[in-house]
Parts: sequence; structure tokens; C-alpha cells
Amino acid sequence: YNHRLQRSEKLKIISDLAASVAHEVRNPLQVTRGFLQLLASRTDEKDKPYFELATNELDRASEIITDFLTFAKPELENIVLLDLTKEIRKIEAIMIPMAAMHGGILSCRAEDSLYIYGNSTKLKQALINMIKNSIEAIGKDGTVEVQAIAEGDEAVVRISDNGQGMEEDEVAKLGVPFFSTKTKGTGLGLMVTYRIIEVMKGTIKVRSAKGKGTEFTIRFPLTVQDIVLPDELNV
Ligand code: ADP
Ligand code: MG
Repeated sequence: YNHRLQRSEKLKIISDLAASVAHEVRNPLQVTRGFLQLLASRTDEKDKPYFELATNELDRASEIITDFLTFAKPELENIVLLDLTKEIRKIEAIMIPMAAMHGGILSCRAEDSLYIYGNSTKLKQALINMIKNSIEAIGKDGTVEVQAIAEGDEAVVRISDNGQGMEEDEVAKLGVPFFSTKTKGTGLGLMVTYRIIEVMKGTIKVRSAKGKGTEFTIRFPLTVQDIVLPDELNV
């Protein structure tokens, strides 16, 4: 028992450290990227490819951190009652610029009063990793739709795109560490997402058709919010 306690304490230290290192490393990477671009603009044509390679490698490091950031701490801390509707609005604000950069359109619709238990940061990480994949899968004129509704006693989030879609054997590999079909992919994004949703007692279903698009359906247990406390308890 003592041995296990020590092990879990060590794991906690390591995972806390990993998460803060990830945060701290992102900034210097961005600064370095900026200076590399400045230098590239002043350099000989023949050296430009090296700057491009260096920038690409920095981007890859940032990607790994982005996809992996919260996986360092997979156990759920700070579990609170989340207003899913509000969380989706925040995610929309974060992701709209990325969709625009890829030439696609992101639209989000969320019913009011969808409450679930979870951790806000991790929920955001989980959904952002999926929306990011959809944005990367669509071409010009692509659309990504995020919808959140109540169905029975579940909160349902659907993320659908009309992007490149997947073959059945690819769908089967989703969430497997390092499975990626992208030249600059990490193959960590969905592993993190699946883990977070599992810990939040949610489920994920995928429907995909090659060349047509993909739809992820995530279900969380809905929490009833309409309990009215008697006055004396409602301090
Ligand atoms: P990465 O994005 O770094 O490749 P992920 O774990 O996020 O890693 O995704 C793994 C793979 O799943 C992707 O490389 C892609 O082949 C496939 N995939 C995930 N989401 C979609 C989607 N919406 N449309 C098409 N393929 C997808
Ligand atoms: Mg991804």
C-alpha cells in the first residue's frame, strides 16, 4: 500500500511537471519562429529552404504540445458542473480563426441549459482536437458543424464535416497512439480526446464515408439542474 502511494505521488509530480513544461515551452517556440521568419526574409535564396525546414520542425513541436497538453494529467481534477452551451461558445470563438485560415466555415449551435459534470480545460481540449481534425479534413468550401442538444438523459455533441472522410480501416484505428495519415500529424490528438471523454463517462461514435465526410457523436450523462432548494438552504 505504501509502495503504491509513493508511486502515485511520483506520478502526480511528473504529470504536473509535464503540463507546466508544455505551457512554458510553447512561448519560446513562438518567439523563435518569429525570429526565424525575420532572418529568412533577409537571407540568400539558397538558404531559404533551411529556414523553412526549421520553421516546420518548430510547428511540429507546437502541434505535439497542443494535442498532448492535458494528456499529461489524464485524471480529472476540478470537476465542476459545466454549462456545455457556454463551453461550446468559448470553443467556437477559439476555433473560428483556424477554420477561416483553412478557408472553411465553422458553425456551432447549442441548446440552452445543457449541464454536465467535467473539467472545463479538458473538455475544451477534447472537443478542440476533434474540431481541428474536421477543419484539417475539409477543403475550400468545406463546412464544419458543431451541434449540442439534449436527447433523453444525455447531452449530445455532434461534430460533422464534409471533408475527405475515412475508410473503415482508418475509423478502426482512431484513438490509437501515433495513428496519423498526415505528413505533419502527431497521431496524439484523438488518443487524448478519447481518454478525456472516457474519464468524463462519455461515449463516442464515428460515422465516416471516404470522400464525403465524417460525423463524431459524443454523449455525456446530462445533469438535472432544476432542483429548487428550500429557502433556508439556499444561502
Ligand atoms: P493527427 O491529427 O495528428 O493526424 P489525430 O489523433 O487527431 O492525429 O487523428 C488521427 C487520424 O484520424 C488523422 O490523421 C486522420 O487520418 C483521421 N481523422 C480524424 N478526424 C478526421 C476527420 N474529421 N476527417 C477525416 N479524417 C479524420
Ligand atoms: Mg489531430
